Amino acid sequence: MQTSFSPELQSDPAMQASEQVIRKCVHCGFCTATCPTYVLLGDELDSPRGRIYLMKDMLENQRVPSPEVVKHVDRCLSCLSCMTTCPSGVNYMHLADHARAYINDHYRRPLFDRLFRRLLAVVLPYPERFRWALRFAPLGSRLKPFFRRIAPLQPLAAMLDLAPLNVPARGSVRSNPVPQAKGRVALLQGCAEPVLRPEFREATVRLLNRCGHEVVFAPGEGCCGALVHHMGQEADALASARRNVDAWIAQREGQGLDAIIVTASGCGTMIKDYGFILRNNPAYAEKAALVSALAMDVSEYLARINLPAGTDRGLTVAYHPACSLQHGQKVTEAPKQLLARAGYVVKIPAESHLCCGSAGTYNILQPEISNRLGRRKAEAIANLDADVIATGNVGCATQIARFSGTPLVHTVELIDWATGGPRPAALNHLDTE
Ligand code: SF4
Ligand code: SF4
Repeated sequence: MQTSFSPELQSDPAMQASEQVIRKCVHCGFCTATCPTYVLLGDELDSPRGRIYLMKDMLENQRVPSPEVVKHVDRCLSCLSCMTTCPSGVNYMHLADHARAYINDHYRRPLFDRLFRRLLAVVLPYPERFRWALRFAPLGSRLKPFFRRIAPLQPLAAMLDLAPLNVPARGSVRSNPVPQAKGRVALLQGCAEPVLRPEFREATVRLLNRCGHEVVFAPGEGCCGALVHHMGQEADALASARRNVDAWIAQREGQGLDAIIVTASGCGTMIKDYGFILRNNPAYAEKAALVSALAMDVSEYLARINLPAGTDRGLTVAYHPACSLQHGQKVTEAPKQLLARAGYVVKIPAESHLCCGSAGTYNILQPEISNRLGRRKAEAIANLDADVIATGNVGCATQIARFSGTPLVHTVELIDWATGGPRPAALNHLDTE
């Protein structure tokens, strides 16, 4: 695609990077067929190619974003399915991230939207604040019918829809000392996952310890920054990235670190991009690149180590590949192979490339599209007639559980169970031990 960024704009590293991305696009349109919003809405401006045109025009001409442009960029899930399909290697993720930050800096959203996004940014990334907010969700639930009737308040109703009826008890994730450990890894503590599904990390630590790998939690580490990054709140995202880089580099320089393990693939995609995000910061560029190189989805790490043989539990698993894992990180085979090796029959739903509609805060901010995608995903999974759904991202787990009656667990929980760990609580109704 031809561009005409002025020399002055080209001197800005962010603009320069976006121009390079745009120039790679040959407007072939292959990406449209696999874009969930185009599939649902059929509007070129809700396709990757259409959005690239909109973002190009906005950035190149330094326009104040119009409500129309913001609408179409906001509707993008950042599922990155378009990056898997694109034959020209267009890095849509970096372009959309830049456009979102530009919109955040140059567009004044309506008051409630502004306040609500700020509220999400100051609550969700902090586990204690998030846990506290969830306790009040049942009170707010009574107001849901009212919120649904008033358009600007609909995200509030969507947020309450996602809140669990009971906040899970604080998990007891304890990593045991491992004499003569075969590896030493840091496990991302994260933000939403330990509150919503503490059992994911419990299973991970248990399994890794049992296999002779030491697991540490780096003091000072917290939310990866993806939640605010996807809302264009770049200063907050950069601060989270720098804080985490400091925490993990301190571990690496202390007792050493073989990998940084991530159990939520949305966070993994973000951490693997820290090297790019902090590339222009001389104090962090090198350290961030090292952190990105050390980051691994838990399934990638498990595929590299010796796991004990699995016990066949006689179960069929519907594996849902999270977009951040399959498109963002290109980790496609490891989770399926691990499950199969552990003795499960693995089935993949139709349209597995399509997003379930979770996408960070998307299911709160864009409830209508998100719900349609969630229902479509649940139907595709139901057709498999599986005993259990496995996935590798807490966002997908929360979203799919709203629309599906099939028990849902993290892939690691099933591997842990098959190789000597306890049965996942979500499967307690089964006869099999
Ligand atoms: S598939 Fe790639 S090159 Fe083709 S229109 Fe989409 S982004 Fe552009
Ligand atoms: S990231 Fe997903 S929703 Fe956004 S343009 Fe690409 S395919 Fe469409």
